[in-house]
Amino acid sequence: MGIRLSSVSISRYTLLVGAQLVVNVTLALWLYNEYLHNPFMQVYMSSLWSMIWPEVTVAAGILVGVVGSLTAYNRGHLRRLIKVPSQSIAQGAANLATIDVCPFCDLPLKTISEGRLQCRNCRRYFKSNLPKVSV
Ligand SMILES: [Zn+2]
Repeated sequence: MGIRLSSVSISRYTLLVGAQLVVNVTLALWLYNEYLHNPFMQVYMSSLWSMIWPEVTVAAGILVGVVGSLTAYNRGHLRRLIKVPSQSIAQGAANLATIDVCPFCDLPLKTISEGRLQCRNCRRYFKSNLPKVSV
């Protein structure tokens, strides 16, 4: 499990959620086990279920939606959808100034000869007009 510096807080949050999930699953399994071996609880559950099933169905639907949204957000899909326009324009300008990354693929360019670069992915050619600065 690789933890990058930028995602430490998310990882700790994920850890917390994971621990809660384990606890919840354990409790649910324990309740289910009790339900299987306790006839009184079976009767109680069947009468209770007939009363609360609409609410439980709606709650389960909401839960699935929230979990799906959080998963998408953690994977960065929503952030990408929201932030794409301004960031891609800014990145494009930055890449033009110091062209060592393909503006189309965001991958490092391979130096073919002095002043000529090629993208490893899309095979586009680029000229680096900037003089090389030796540090
Ligand atoms: Zn490319």
